[in-house]
Amino acid sequence: MEKAHNGTAMKEASALATAQAQFDQAVQYLDLEPGLVDLLRWPRRELTVSFPVKMDDGTVRRFVGYRVHHNMSRGPTKGGIRYHPEVTLDEVRALAMWMTWKCALVNIPYGGAKGGVVCDPHKLSQHELEGLTRRYATEIAILISPEGDIPAPDMGTNAQVMAWIMDTYSMHRGYSTPAVVTGKPINIGGSQGRNEATGRGVIFTTREALKLLNKPLAGASVVVQGFGNVGSVAALTAHELGCKVIAVSDVKGGIYNPKGLDIYAVMRHARETRSVVGFPGSDGLTNAELLSLPCDVLVPAAMENQITAYNAAAVQCKVLAEGANGPTTPEADAILLDKGVFIIPDILCNAGGVIVSYFEWVQGLQAFFWEEKEVTERMEHFMVKAFHDVHREARRLQVDMRTAAQVLAIGRVADATTTRGLYP
Ligand code: NAD
Repeated sequence: MEKAHNGTAMKEASALATAQAQFDQAVQYLDLEPGLVDLLRWPRRELTVSFPVKMDDGTVRRFVGYRVHHNMSRGPTKGGIRYHPEVTLDEVRALAMWMTWKCALVNIPYGGAKGGVVCDPHKLSQHELEGLTRRYATEIAILISPEGDIPAPDMGTNAQVMAWIMDTYSMHRGYSTPAVVTGKPINIGGSQGRNEATGRGVIFTTREALKLLNKPLAGASVVVQGFGNVGSVAALTAHELGCKVIAVSDVKGGIYNPKGLDIYAVMRHARETRSVVGFPGSDGLTNAELLSLPCDVLVPAAMENQITAYNAAAVQCKVLAEGANGPTTPEADAILLDKGVFIIPDILCNAGGVIVSYFEWVQGLQAFFWEEKEVTERMEHFMVKAFHDVHREARRLQVDMRTAAQVLAIGRVADATTTRGLYP
């Protein structure tokens, strides 16, 4: 097996293969027409764009990007935009499909979409990043709109990137259209609590899972892979709620302290040095070592396909809280379930972000904004309800949490598709 540069297992299966294998497993529990199953297994439409960007040294470089709509039966499509050197069309298709199921599972009126640009944002200047973003936004403008498809941040993008997309779209329209993206900065129509939503939601569902295992959240040992938007906030929320966060990592490597890390201090260190590595008072470890640390809760919050057939047997957590999308392959799922690991599947665990994105969109359309406490409490309510809906379904069907989540979500999308009927 090849190893990624950070020592973890490389993508051995495409994310799309994982997403479709999960889908195939779940539809066995639903009584759906074969034609409908085939329809839901594939994206509705896909756009590939190839576009030039003027670099700071005066040269022109070509970039490739994608925007995929998976399904829009339940409403406009929703999904993030990823900037990463390994973005592929298959990955974007999988992420779009997961967005459809995620929105249906937490019962918000959206379909699923995703976008991506093949680039390393850390190797671009702010000026180059802005040029790339504005041109990509223009290229995909035929697909995005407040009523049709609303992007948000994902790996490698942030509130500033959303601001540039919103501004580019608005310039073309001739008036401000904040509702075309979510995850915007607060001063141009973003929502309080959006930045923190995904990471907080991860910990809310973790708390519910630990309750089922008769373990309090306070005092639980937590390990987090990835220290970006999702991972850092999950680690911070866990720390604030009394957990012992014993290890965290980013693409450069990990840090470990069995007595618990001061996450505020780790965040300061990461801001100043652009990595968690080298944090004073911690031992270094690789991402592969981090994934196999004994702990109560493991939060993968980086990339897909991190826990695979090759390393699943070494995983030693009680609860796997999937902050990332698709971090666990179907082969690894089977191994973890055999070991008795309680898996909170991605479409449930990391749905806090899209829930607050929905709140941001609603607030923007009404031009009436809520306080952070209200945003977070409403998000928590959606997350806790979805968690128990899934757990109830898992018990009813005698299946794992992932299959139950997919059954509920696919069932709702199929239902909406059937109610709308077949055009023409
Ligand atoms: P981000 O770019 O803010 O952070 C990603 C982090 O992962 C960084 O610390 C990076 O160094 C690290 N990383 C990247 N590759 C790695 C590797 N191979 N091994 C270890 N660490 C690695 O991204 P994010 O927004 O936090 O997204 C992380 C995951 O969460 C993605 O799977 C994304 O799709 C998912 N997600 C994000 C949101 C959101 O609101 N941002 C919502 C739902 C799901």
